[in-house]
Amino acid sequence: MNKDKVYIETYGCQMNFSDTEIVASLLKAGGFDIIDKIDDADIILLNTCSVRDNAEKKIHQRLMHLKQYKKRKNKLVVGVIGCMAERMQEKLIEEEDIVKIVVGPDEYRLIPQLINQAIGGQKGIAVELSTVETYDDITPLRTEGISAFISIMRGCNNFCTYCIVPYTRGRDRSREIATIINEVKDLAQQGIKEITLLGQNVNSYTANHKGQNIDFPELIARFAEVAPEIRFRFTTSHPKDISDKLIETIAANDNICNHIHLAMQSGSTRVLEMMKRKYTYEHFLGRIQKIKELIPDCALSTDIIAGFPGETIDDHKQTLQAVRDIRYDGAFMFKYSPREGTKSYDMEDDVDEKEKLRRLNQIIEMQNNIALELNDAEIGKTQEVLVEGSSKRSRDDMMGRTGTNKVVVFPNNPPCKIGDLVKVKIIRTTSATLIGKRI
Ligand code: SF4
Repeated sequence: MNKDKVYIETYGCQMNFSDTEIVASLLKAGGFDIIDKIDDADIILLNTCSVRDNAEKKIHQRLMHLKQYKKRKNKLVVGVIGCMAERMQEKLIEEEDIVKIVVGPDEYRLIPQLINQAIGGQKGIAVELSTVETYDDITPLRTEGISAFISIMRGCNNFCTYCIVPYTRGRDRSREIATIINEVKDLAQQGIKEITLLGQNVNSYTANHKGQNIDFPELIARFAEVAPEIRFRFTTSHPKDISDKLIETIAANDNICNHIHLAMQSGSTRVLEMMKRKYTYEHFLGRIQKIKELIPDCALSTDIIAGFPGETIDDHKQTLQAVRDIRYDGAFMFKYSPREGTKSYDMEDDVDEKEKLRRLNQIIEMQNNIALELNDAEIGKTQEVLVEGSSKRSRDDMMGRTGTNKVVVFPNNPPCKIGDLVKVKIIRTTSATLIGKRI
């Protein structure tokens, strides 16, 4: 039988990449072939992000570009899935005549059926949000490699005023512990060396297991025990839920990576209140101090928004001071971007674009200098590196990551292979990369 071929293009966060693996698995079970060359596709799906206006603009441009494929293959079906599909719903089909299918994150099980209907000429929309869907029974169709994602929970209940996620991904729900443990064991058997546990707020994970409530620190401690040969990471954590118990669990287990991503967003408690982040800056700083106390070599990364509505120069200075005090290893830094449908969309966007950019650039400059200094402090140290492949710049060099998630490049001498854990002495650095040699 000639199977229809589906090409999936993924945008946005790691959750989306993990969802694409679930969609691919559902499609394969539905009789489709998953391909990695767009030119051969009968169906093109864009798995989209809605978090910033720019992310959506990119998708509109991509849809325009896909018209050339439609001209070449009249029967081509184009679908938009994920957060932008959920946010725009039928408007997407009205605005973009190339789009035949629109499917939100909780309706992926319907995709094979909707594609078949679209092949028959019928447009399809499925955007119902669920309070229970976790795709617990689906084994993701992963691409080969040494690392894997496992989504352990979906959705978010926090409703930060700037964020579209609770509206596009629905309420917080956690997966059954037994199915996740089986997935970890399977991946260990397949030779996977690193697993990243994913969720909008992984540390709010909670599930009942045999009458007992299991929280995130207990869950990750079980994984560390079940698969001691695997390195575990997790993202993303909410500052209000980063408990002493979780920090102690990371400190106590060598195979839970010493890297915590904790989204600060602002160094001003006044702005954090307007964002409805549910913590003060003092609480946030207290959590960072606890991490530094219990895990002195823990790498820290964060998210920062510049120019939130009502942010004054003084608030901005507090953010700069926070960056200076905390000294993050890395940060995702953005200008505030109003998202229709969120609470802050109705607030007066009173920091003009030029000023937002000025504040953002100040934060970026300070953060980049700190990252460079922290990388320089690695010179002379020996790091354990999980080898991921050849370096982009030279085939004679390999690249990998430390437990603290720093990229290390080193000559492949003595030779090593993908998946090896090797010791590398750091000899020089850039702001983004450590350069070393095997010892
Ligand atoms: S915690 Fe806030 S920023 Fe994070 S997904 Fe939930 S609403 Fe969005």
